[in-house]
Amino acid sequence: QGGSPFQIKPLHEGCHVRKVYGVVSGKGGVGKSMVTSQLAVTMQRRGHRTAILDADVTGPSIPKCFGIHGRAVGSEDAILPVQTETGIQLMSVNLLLEHETDPVIWRGPVIGGVVQQFWGDVLWQDVDYMFVDMPPGTGDVALNVFQTLPVDGVIIVTSPQDLVGMVVEKAVKMAQMMNIPIVGLVENMSYLACPDCGRKIYLFGEGKTQEAADRYGLPLLAQMPIDPALAALVDAGRIEDFQGSWLSAAADRLEC
Ligand code: ADP
Repeated sequence: QGGSPFQIKPLHEGCHVRKVYGVVSGKGGVGKSMVTSQLAVTMQRRGHRTAILDADVTGPSIPKCFGIHGRAVGSEDAILPVQTETGIQLMSVNLLLEHETDPVIWRGPVIGGVVQQFWGDVLWQDVDYMFVDMPPGTGDVALNVFQTLPVDGVIIVTSPQDLVGMVVEKAVKMAQMMNIPIVGLVENMSYLACPDCGRKIYLFGEGKTQEAADRYGLPLLAQMPIDPALAALVDAGRIEDFQGSWLSAAADRLEC
């Protein structure tokens, strides 16, 4: 181990994780956790053994999407991931807090240490695809977390307003600087479909994410609308019941 807080810990004995994908965003509130959850749901539905490591330690929202409010159980040297209704393995700081409403106010390096433990001290069972809900942004917290996990690739979630402030460019550059392959961009909250006529209303303009994707030579994996039905399912903790297939192209790419 060598004592460095940023060395990647080995997995716990007997555990196996095949692929690790980080889901990142330039800033908070663009739907990163929702995309992480939906990617996991999609892969699990396709028959892959799937897990989510919630590394968004100060704003953990993954358990809530899946309606999980219980606590993870563990012993001194290992902790069991919680299983969702469809069998997705999950670990989040919210599953360890006494009250899930307790705020987490740790600094970057401490968060990096917690995530390192989530990787090495959790008994992940034969995972084909692990999705990591990364801390938002490109600051030291995100960087610390990146340095503690063996990430095979990242998916960058953006919203059309995001492109104005160059936050996506920063996320692209961070991944490039860390030599982590970028699977592609997912644009969320791209449009609203009129419930009467189905016409797409591009609230924040159309085509900007495609332009950015072209500029960086990255695939645009999905353009997801603002969907009140999706928001309601997330609020009810029933994301596994969502039937939308906006992320199937992203899932295809992860499978190859
Ligand atoms: P982030 O992880 O980037 O902070 P979240 O995934 O937590 O963002 O999303 C923020 C809120 O917006 C959540 O309540 C989520 O359910 C909602 N949301 C995200 N994307 C959509 C969408 N496409 N349609 C409707 N609601 C959405």
